[in-house]
Amino acid sequence: MEEINYIKNNLKIYNTLTGKKELFKTIHKKHVGIYVCGPTVYNHLHLGNCRTFVSFDIVFRYLKHLGYKVRYVRNITDVGHLENDLEDKISKKSRIEGLEPMEIVQKYTLSFHNLLSILNVLPPSIEPTATGHLIEQIDMIKELIKRNLAYEINGSVYFNLKEYKKLYPYGILSKNKIDKLFNKKLNFSEEKRNLQDFSLWKRAHPSHIMSWNSPWGKGFPGWHIECTAMSTKYLGEIFDIHGGGIDLKFPHHECELAQAIGVYNKNYLAHYWMHTNMLTLNGKKMSKSTGNFLELKDLIHNKFCKKTFFPSIIRFFILQSHYRSVMDFSNQGLMNAEKGYYRIMKAVKILKNLHPKTLTMNHHVFDVFYWIKSCYKAINDDFNIPLLISHLFEATHVVNSFSINDIGKSHVNLLKKYMIYFVFDILGLQEQKKEINPSEEKFQILIERLIKFRTEARKQKNWILSDRIREELSYIGIPFHDDKLF
Ligand code: AMP
Ligand code: ZN
Repeated sequence: MEEINYIKNNLKIYNTLTGKKELFKTIHKKHVGIYVCGPTVYNHLHLGNCRTFVSFDIVFRYLKHLGYKVRYVRNITDVGHLENDLEDKISKKSRIEGLEPMEIVQKYTLSFHNLLSILNVLPPSIEPTATGHLIEQIDMIKELIKRNLAYEINGSVYFNLKEYKKLYPYGILSKNKIDKLFNKKLNFSEEKRNLQDFSLWKRAHPSHIMSWNSPWGKGFPGWHIECTAMSTKYLGEIFDIHGGGIDLKFPHHECELAQAIGVYNKNYLAHYWMHTNMLTLNGKKMSKSTGNFLELKDLIHNKFCKKTFFPSIIRFFILQSHYRSVMDFSNQGLMNAEKGYYRIMKAVKILKNLHPKTLTMNHHVFDVFYWIKSCYKAINDDFNIPLLISHLFEATHVVNSFSINDIGKSHVNLLKKYMIYFVFDILGLQEQKKEINPSEEKFQILIERLIKFRTEARKQKNWILSDRIREELSYIGIPFHDDKLF
């Protein structure tokens, strides 16, 4: 046991800031502060976004499992994220859908929460919104102006990179060299002094609904400043982990970092910077703007495979690749994940129902202690979940082939205990309420027909019947959610 505890205290995390795997040491004993950039709520999440949030859910779950008191802050971007440096994404969507911007925010925040709860992603400890923290952002901008690291022009405020670079190195996270860009010519339309100066506050056109009073007139905050303001408000000037997708590394995270260094005059914002890699579809990044994406609902009722997938299978599929590797979506991968999921669940069920009296001792067949250590070693190696999963399959093989009786009573109990830790607490998988045979074609047809009946019932406003069908479906482990909720 001592050895297991020793291994548990050896978590290594790949730190983008240093480009190395480093031993995880917290700033405050037994406490961890983690900030992850949340979604811009103008659309339903696609599967790529889900991958990033599931990956950090594993980090959150594992740190809690190790006994840390974790404060996990994940924001909601409800203002300031511009599309091609022009229009606010939420304003644009409100124009398209004919809704108030805050109706858009409400609609897609609900959808975000709903999707992540389907995937059994735990809610963060704090979920601050950008519009709820305008005072903090304005204060931070004022401080940057005071330190000559920002300047105001016509009601907008920009970060002054040239001045910043005289005091601090820029590009430490992304390793981008921006010196050559300083001499590049600006467009006529651009009022900032240098091409790489980014906006902290943008003046708003009088017709712009999403604008607020500030010392520089009516406007709205830039995207980067919100994360610096919210992370430091809840986690302090320096905290343990900062996370997000790798596409945010530059410019978003680099700018967050520069703002924090500029205001607090410290070396960095977070000790460890973690970046998840992209989920691709047909070899290209999943993204709403290019139309190259899949949503969760496309997989739960998968038209291509003509199958229904329990959400935990989709979660399990996401976990098949290491979070720092690019992962390409494929139906085959999803089907394999399904098979693997059922194998593991079968083993868990056998373990749960085993009668300890029937067991005899022989621990040469399967060394449970060695197995537990290997599992922890895998997670501790920068969250190597695919390796952990391969260890889970080793145990699954032993359990499902009934050679488990050779392991020994106390060891079986140990195996059961740790299998439950790894499968449910850390990987966050869930059991289906009733087991179904996923390859049963007739069953699939029946489900599709039931869903059709339900759609007809809804058309006829027969809510009692439609609710009843939904309840029945979820009872047999087929979660059903109306489109509007996605
Ligand atoms: P957004 O709402 O666009 O800011 O994205 C929310 C989170 O999803 C960010 O951390 C992004 O880096 C991440 N993300 C976006 N696209 C993908 C993708 N294709 N694969 C994995 N993560 C992604
Ligand atoms: Zn952010």
